[in-house]
Amino acid sequence: MNIVLLGAPGAGKGTQAQKLVAEFGVAHISTGDMLRAAVKAQSSLGVKAKSFMDAGTLVPDELIIDLVKERLDAEDAQKGFILDGFPRNTAQAVALDDALETMGKSIDSALLVDVAADVIVARLSGRRTCKVCGYTGTAANEVCPRCDGEMYQRDDDKPETIKHRLDVYEQQTSPLVEYYQQRGLLNKVDGDRPVDVVYLDVKDQLGL
Ligand code: AMP
Repeated sequence: MNIVLLGAPGAGKGTQAQKLVAEFGVAHISTGDMLRAAVKAQSSLGVKAKSFMDAGTLVPDELIIDLVKERLDAEDAQKGFILDGFPRNTAQAVALDDALETMGKSIDSALLVDVAADVIVARLSGRRTCKVCGYTGTAANEVCPRCDGEMYQRDDDKPETIKHRLDVYEQQTSPLVEYYQQRGLLNKVDGDRPVDVVYLDVKDQLGL
């Protein structure tokens, strides 16, 4: 199972990826999570990426492509992987195709989690993330329901950054829908429904 999840920030890609990983034991490759970990660790990648992330802009391709290639090579990705937040533009999609071809692999499906822009804005402004385990909740969660960790609002979920992130998605990432459609790999689910209902549809679309 080699899958690319497409969809705007806040569409629920991470949540659906976590469910697929829990049920099928494939690797969850979230470039946003990898970058946030690098920022937290203050690694050289994190230091370079932070200002782009805080502004809601994509980090440069050269910082992210090698990171993903290395991750695809890891042991736990050999059984399959869910790419969440990558590729984010056509250059990254082409680099991914090249890297997979070299590895003798390919994408089985690019699954679009489709949610209207006004719903996304409301979701992102209310989104809260656990500082300890990364769980995604809402402003109603005072502490993390999974590990009791402290919940916080990501800098890039603040109202002034949300609109910019959606513009970046429209301009740079949404053309990938066409990219994968042309290759006969696109599937789509309506993401504006309860998580478990979306998940059933996700599995249906993926033939699981
Ligand atoms: P996400 O958690 O996927 O919304 O990502 C948070 C931020 O990390 C984005 O707004 C970008 O600044 C950066 N980022 C994540 N994935 C990528 C990527 N594939 N290419 C460039 N920047 C990325």
